Amino acid sequence: MDVLVVGAGPAGMALAAACGQTGMTVGLVDPNPDRPWVATYGTWSPELPDHLPASVVAARADGRAIALTEHRLGWEYAVLDVDRLRAHLADQFTGVTTYRGRAVGSPEHGAVALADGSTLRAAVVVDAAGRWRPLSAAPSRSVPAEQTAYGLILDEQTVTPLAKPGEALFMDWRADHGEAGWPTFVYVVPLGHGKVLVEETSLARRPGLALSTLRRRLYARLAHHGITPPNDARTEKVSFPVDQQRHSGRDVLGFGAAAPLVHPASGFSVAASLRLAPQVAVALAEHLPGHPERALAAAQETVWPAAAKVIHRVRRIGLEALLRMPGAEVPGFFERFFLLPDADRWAYLTARDDVGGTVSAMASLFRESNWRMRRHLILPALMPPLLTNDEAAD
Ligand SMILES: Cc1cc2nc3c(=O)[nH]c(=O)nc-3n(C[C@H](O)[C@H](O)[C@H](O)COP(=O)(O)OP(=O)(O)OC[C@H]3O[C@@H](n4cnc5c(N)ncnc54)[C@H](O)[C@@H]3O)c2cc1C
Repeated sequence: MDVLVVGAGPAGMALAAACGQTGMTVGLVDPNPDRPWVATYGTWSPELPDHLPASVVAARADGRAIALTEHRLGWEYAVLDVDRLRAHLADQFTGVTTYRGRAVGSPEHGAVALADGSTLRAAVVVDAAGRWRPLSAAPSRSVPAEQTAYGLILDEQTVTPLAKPGEALFMDWRADHGEAGWPTFVYVVPLGHGKVLVEETSLARRPGLALSTLRRRLYARLAHHGITPPNDARTEKVSFPVDQQRHSGRDVLGFGAAAPLVHPASGFSVAASLRLAPQVAVALAEHLPGHPERALAAAQETVWPAAAKVIHRVRRIGLEALLRMPGAEVPGFFERFFLLPDADRWAYLTARDDVGGTVSAMASLFRESNWRMRRHLILPALMPPLLTNDEAAD
């Protein structure tokens, strides 16, 4: 087998499909490869790769954000139809064999040990097992910084006091939930078929803010806007780390959230995975089957060019600044962020290898900030990562 992909989430399936399309033989292993995806995956429309058919997008909407004031972002937001995306990727499976199993390690180059004692072998192994990344030895922080959110799926008409049909509310930082303490925002996106996801979100906290707090705030916020959700409304619960180090596997490629391709300022990774998958496949195919080491190195370089490594580091510093920022200052910080020139906002939120754009965004933010905010932005770069936010009252 040329490539073995561990993990059949969006990243693993996209990469397995792309590798198969180049003519390579591919294995895809997951404890439950047929499990339907249930999370709501959204992203900015221009981030989606051109090769994706329009049918995998469930809804599109104009992006809006509220920090201290309201901002029309001028960007379109897209919410994916996860069933169609999954079916589309599965349809591309040429030369892909699916295995049911849980990877527990990679004892040697090209080998993956499974929990049942068996071993799968391939010229190149990819760990696309999301936050679990069983083939990485990179130390995880004992207390991870996590994005957590509690959401309800409601009828579009019910939610109009917060977002009109055709609108996506990327962030609304108003404390309409009536609580002081850790800052949270509401995220409202259309899902298609007249449904909307309304989600109270803690962007990043070490450890993640409790779902019970988010649920309480969501109900209070909705009540503030005169919205009473039905008792049987479907829920979405979100919790994933945003501060994982780069995948350590010297003999393994980390891909997707396992890489991690997760942007700490949004939590997004799916669009980046879908975009990179065909590029990684081409890099691998150029050197396989003859040169597995060169294939792995070329794929690593595709996922982590020098610029992306720098930006990963810079984004981690930005995350630490946010974790240390006094809660009351956070909406003001985002107000300044949303007032930045469009190109700066776009570069910071999306481009993972545009060092110039990211630095320009950070420089603009610094220039536009008062001295108190500048201190909050600079000092964390000189300090070790925060151990925990738990001392602070919620
Ligand atoms: C509820 C929710 C909503 C989210 N919303 C968004 C969003 O709107 N936009 C966005 O970009 N991101 C979003 N994210 C964050 C992130 O992008 C997702 O977590 C996304 O699923 C990552 O895709 P992935 O394929 O890299 O990993 P995953 O989807 O986590 O897939 C990993 C796969 O690996 C398998 N696996 C785990 N351990 C093993 C093992 N030992 N051996 C073999 N297989 C294993 C799992 O079964 C799973 O199928 C959201 C996350 C959650 C939880």
